Amino acid sequence: MMPAGRFAPSPSGELHLGNLRTALLAWLFARSTGRQFLIRVEDLDRARAGAEAVQLHDLAAIGLDWDGPIVRQSERTERYEDALGALADAGLTYECYCTRREILEAPSAPHAPQGAYPGTCRDLPEAERARRRAVRPAAIRLRAGVTEWTVTDVLHGRYTGLVDDFVLRRNDGVVAYNLAVVVDDAAQGVDQIVRGDDLLPSTPRQVYLSGLLGYGVPEYAHVPLVLNRARKRLAKRDGAVTLAALAAEGVSAQQVTASLLASLRLPQVLPAALAAFSPAALPRDPWVLDPAELTAQQEGTLRS
Ligand code: GLU
Repeated sequence: MMPAGRFAPSPSGELHLGNLRTALLAWLFARSTGRQFLIRVEDLDRARAGAEAVQLHDLAAIGLDWDGPIVRQSERTERYEDALGALADAGLTYECYCTRREILEAPSAPHAPQGAYPGTCRDLPEAERARRRAVRPAAIRLRAGVTEWTVTDVLHGRYTGLVDDFVLRRNDGVVAYNLAVVVDDAAQGVDQIVRGDDLLPSTPRQVYLSGLLGYGVPEYAHVPLVLNRARKRLAKRDGAVTLAALAAEGVSAQQVTASLLASLRLPQVLPAALAAFSPAALPRDPWVLDPAELTAQQEGTLRS
């Protein structure tokens, strides 16, 4: 299998400038290292009709290309179930009947790190399991053998974070993101993962799980997010932050690409940016964006 990088959007709506900037970075990392670039639609959850087509259109519009067919998680349930089966056979899973509320209200186990599943269902006797199973469908959790794991990231260096008995399959039957992402990246030959740094805290769980499934560890680069003027993660309510909204203000996709590349301190057209790209030279801080400025700047450029 060819080594690959990827972008894995959730088709919950239009991509905004933050998502597009992450996609651009994933493309730059992959292409500058001779990797394939794959798009995987993470539609197990939060999928909105029509969103995938608009997202793909927008990725192409900012100049990105990708290899092979689009992969959709909703079409890969069998692979996830196989992985779950392998973990179950190895005694590495258990059923959990807790509600969110029960988890929040449970006294945390001694020495358990904050935010960790308290272990309520870890060692229940079978009779008790049968009783609880009759009341509520079970989720499947990982029986983790550690409480933390250290990963290495191109931009963040060594990072140690929580690994608990996290959910592998929810009690509505939907496979959890942490399992799907690990299974897919391994199956697709993805050995370079570039994504927003909001996902860095999930990485120790994912790398630990990869090891249990016998997969290799990919290279990670968690890139800074785009923030609004209040320094909160950019959202659609922040104004004209999607290609469609910007187009309505007279800003073309090429101009968006140029602005995104400028925010990365790169030449403002893709081939030159690709030639100049170096992870070490990337800004490490979030890009704080005032969408109104972007529009005004572009108007300035157009007028000048
Ligand atoms: N689908 C996830 C998201 O849109 C990204 C997952 C990943 O890149 O690992 O937030």
